[in-house]
Amino acid sequence: MPTDDFVASSHILHRSFTERPSKVIRGDGISLVLEDGRKVIDATCGPSVSCLGHSQPEIVEAITNHLKNDIAYVYSGSPYTNAAIEELADMLLAGKPGGLSKAIFVNSGSEATDAALKLAVQYWHEKGQPQRTHFIARKQSYHGNTIGALCVSGHESRRAFYQDFMSPNVSFVDPCYAYRMKHKGETDEEFVQRLARQFENEILRVGPDRVAGFIAEPVSGTTLGCLPAVPGYFKAIRDICDRYGVLLILDEIICGMGKTGTMHAWEQEGIRGPDIQTIGKALGGGFVPLSGVLLHQKIFHALSAGSGGLAHGHTFQAHPLACAAAISAQRIIKRDNLVERCKQMGYKLEDLLRAEIGPMPLIGDIRGRGLFWAIEFVLDKELKTPFPAQAKFCDQIVKNSLRLGLNILGNLGHTGTYQVDHVLVCPPYTVTEEELSQIISVLKVAISQASDEYL
Ligand code: PLP
Repeated sequence: MPTDDFVASSHILHRSFTERPSKVIRGDGISLVLEDGRKVIDATCGPSVSCLGHSQPEIVEAITNHLKNDIAYVYSGSPYTNAAIEELADMLLAGKPGGLSKAIFVNSGSEATDAALKLAVQYWHEKGQPQRTHFIARKQSYHGNTIGALCVSGHESRRAFYQDFMSPNVSFVDPCYAYRMKHKGETDEEFVQRLARQFENEILRVGPDRVAGFIAEPVSGTTLGCLPAVPGYFKAIRDICDRYGVLLILDEIICGMGKTGTMHAWEQEGIRGPDIQTIGKALGGGFVPLSGVLLHQKIFHALSAGSGGLAHGHTFQAHPLACAAAISAQRIIKRDNLVERCKQMGYKLEDLLRAEIGPMPLIGDIRGRGLFWAIEFVLDKELKTPFPAQAKFCDQIVKNSLRLGLNILGNLGHTGTYQVDHVLVCPPYTVTEEELSQIISVLKVAISQASDEYL
């Protein structure tokens, strides 16, 4: 494929060498405004980030005020902190949800995953079990692109170049992917039991005294496409973790911060909560890079009774300006009751997706929660035949959508066992009914245009 002229001459090393990126010059509510003046409705908030749209004036003001009246940067490694850092943690952990009582803030989701893994390892050192360094993760998962996060990501194509760096102390079990993995006639309960047995057997195979933690997304985001677990799955996983003292690490970097209809997606799983949780993306509403790790009080108690400190840190951790922006975003979400709005508007989005998109010929599955939905495409509905990888069916839908004025995120889950051709629909928490209808009608045309050659 010839390299695009713009990409070749740009000093930025763009991700795709063949496709020219569209230059965005500003945001306008839910839309992106392109250099040529075209407006593109952002139906996925980037990768599920800009949860309050692209031009929220209150957040802009909060950032400006912070810069005028406070300090842009302090090194919060030691010995400083800042009001914004403390206030954001207070907001997120008020009432200790699920026993989570401490936070650390980092810049990206991948850094949050790395910090979560390191915290788990430090925890076991402090508890006098330093041999607990093995993690169990799930196939077709994605927890980030740094080496540490990739080690626990079952996304094979993203790992491919880096196999030599991938830790032998990580093993993978099946994800809770009912659409493809549930056997014919198997009940949800039987499916859960089968996955739970596999997880428990893996702990026993590795040796319970070697397993530090299990990491999973409550609603799998990009690789499997907004996939909630079947009822009872996380309860079974939580029970097994408790039985063997394995830490439950829940990655809510993409699915958290309200979009599924509760602040934390795990709140819908009937569990007491994770031991370690990661958050990111919507935390700062896309105005700043910010992610975090929330820790159960037992982790803090162990560190405090042990070495008495945190063996981890970054130069730009808990950046005050980022925290100030996130405080503003989270205040708006609370004040305007937007988590409940995600739930209510989510019902409308689901209805539209099922009624308008569901009957189309190449639609395999429609799934999600709140304002976090995906459509999985197949060549044959009955047989659930995936598209050949080279078809890049989703890429076609994404391109058609962009031409029609809609941004969606398409993902070819070429992550190993199954191919999961899907697009995401996860608009801002403030999306109106009219905008939802507009998104669905454009998407319908984009899918229909891409489908033509397969019908
Ligand atoms: N974890 C999950 C579930 C994600 O979806 C992502 C990014 O898409 C990450 C971790 C990594 O986050 P980041 O891209 O901010 O490093």
